Amino acid sequence: MTRSTSKAAPVADHATTEQAVGYEGVSVRFTTRRQQVTALSDVEFSVDRGEFVSIVGPSGCGKSTLLRLTAGLLAPSSGTARLEGAVVDGPRHQIGFAFQRAALLEWRSARRNILLQAEMRGMDAKEAAVRADELIEMTGLKGFEDALPHEMSGGMQQRVALCRALLHRPPVLLMDEPFGALDALTREQMNVELRNIWQATGTTVLLVTHSIPEAVYLSDRVVVMTPRPGRVEEIIPVDLPLDRNYATTLASPQFAAATIRIRELLGASHAAE
Ligand code: ADP
Ligand code: MG
Repeated sequence: MTRSTSKAAPVADHATTEQAVGYEGVSVRFTTRRQQVTALSDVEFSVDRGEFVSIVGPSGCGKSTLLRLTAGLLAPSSGTARLEGAVVDGPRHQIGFAFQRAALLEWRSARRNILLQAEMRGMDAKEAAVRADELIEMTGLKGFEDALPHEMSGGMQQRVALCRALLHRPPVLLMDEPFGALDALTREQMNVELRNIWQATGTTVLLVTHSIPEAVYLSDRVVVMTPRPGRVEEIIPVDLPLDRNYATTLASPQFAAATIRIRELLGASHAAE
């Protein structure tokens, strides 16, 4: 799936492959003292560069595990994960990671929390400062650069975490239930902002979420997983235009069709998810 990224230059040169992320027969087994758990079983799909793909599935079906192995923080028991064509065999710097907890350092300002990424990666300080300003502008944090985490709302903290994840212009952004702790209205606002940021940066996004509307509004495709051991149940293409006004999108028949299908798939095994 391709789309134009007219607002800003692409984040990276991916000349070698159209595929940003790929999974081939990925299984993960955890051995604990008491038992063996198969978290993922034979997961197989790929994400094109620039694509926005969400993953939904019951708790414990291996969604976080899948993101962690994509980042190279965990090795699959069998199968292969690829990032931009290359086998993931250790931690990867081409990714940005955002979690449910913003995980900001309490003693650092918004700006200095964002710049932590630059310090960790040894980025050029001047370039990092310019990029931080761009992201602060893009996420509406302007004026709050010097605020400390305890002075910020949950939404603002997540914006800071998002800026930090994007600072090094990662071609792939992994998000693990990033808006799960926010109130409903803030979450909607963050959805709209994330969609805009995705369009502006051209980054590939892989988002884990428990919210079906969030998944459909944001995504090109939604991967529905089975209960543990997680397998890909079905991949739902989202038939919505690139420019998505929040209110009219949620009222559209295409939106309804996709959410109904996902609920049907999930409903059989876990109505509450
Ligand atoms: P999800 O994010 O979909 O809720 P996870 O990927 O966190 O699921 O976990 C999938 C399964 O693997 C769960 O049963 C969980 O308990 C187990 N699991 C995850 N990480 C570990 C680990 N490091 N050691 C043992 N079991 C784990
Ligand atoms: Mg999880």
